[in-house]
Amino acid sequence: MNKNITIAIDGYSSTGKSTIAKQLANHLGYIYVDTGAMYRTVALYAMQHNLIGSDYIKQDQLIAQLNAIKISFVFNPNLGFAEVYLNDVNVEKKIRSLEVSSFVSKIATISKIREKLVFEQQQMGLNKGIVMDGRDIGTVVFPEAELKIFMTASADTRAKRRFDELIEKGDDVNYEEIYKNVVERDYIDTTRTDSPLVKAEDAIEIDNSNLSKKEQFDLIQKLVTDKL
Ligand code: C5P
Repeated sequence: MNKNITIAIDGYSSTGKSTIAKQLANHLGYIYVDTGAMYRTVALYAMQHNLIGSDYIKQDQLIAQLNAIKISFVFNPNLGFAEVYLNDVNVEKKIRSLEVSSFVSKIATISKIREKLVFEQQQMGLNKGIVMDGRDIGTVVFPEAELKIFMTASADTRAKRRFDELIEKGDDVNYEEIYKNVVERDYIDTTRTDSPLVKAEDAIEIDNSNLSKKEQFDLIQKLVTDKL
C-alpha cells in the first residue's frame, strides 16, 4: 500500500494546473481542490453584492460579510470532477467568466480573505491524499507537501489556451482582452504583499509551453511515483 501524500501545484494563470491536478487526482484516487475557484467565488459574491466594480472595491464591507460566504465543492459524477457552490448554488460556470477573472486578483490581495480560504484549504488537506492547485499552496498552505510542482508557460501560450477554452464554452471574447488579463493577473499575483506567487525553494519547475498533455502527465506521474 502506498502512503498518501500531499501534492501542491502552483504557477501562473492558465498554465494548465487544474488539468494536470485533476488527472493526477483521478489516477491516484486523491481529492482534488482548485483553490483559484475559491477566490473566484469570493469575487463573484462581491460582484453580486456591488462590493467591487471597475473603479471601486468596498473592502471593509466585504470583510464584514465573509462569514456569509459558504464555499463548497460537490462532486459531479457526469463530469468526473467537483463543481463549486456559493451558499448552495452551483456557480461553476459563472466563476470562469472574463468578468470574474478581471476582479479576482484584486480580491486575492486582501489578507482577511486569504486567511479564511487558507484555513479552509488546510482543513481539507488534514488527511493528505490531496492534489491542490493555486498560487501559494507549496509556500503557505502546505509548506510541508511531499511534492511541489511549479508550472510556467509563455504568456502567449497561456492566453491562447484560455481563449480556446472560453470560445469552446460559447463565450464571446477577444484574444487581446484575454492576453491583457493574463498579464495583469501575473503582475498582481507576483507583486502583492501577502503570499505573492513565487516558486517554493523545493518545487520542481515545469515549463509546458511545448509539452502535450500526455507528455506533461507522464513527466509528472514519474515525479509522483518517485515520491510514493
Ligand atoms: O487559478 P485561477 O486562475 O482560477 O485563480 C484565479 C486567481 O485567484 C489568481 O489569479 C489569483 O489572483 C488568485 N489565487 C490566489 N491564490 C491561490 C489561488 C488563486 O491568490 N491559491
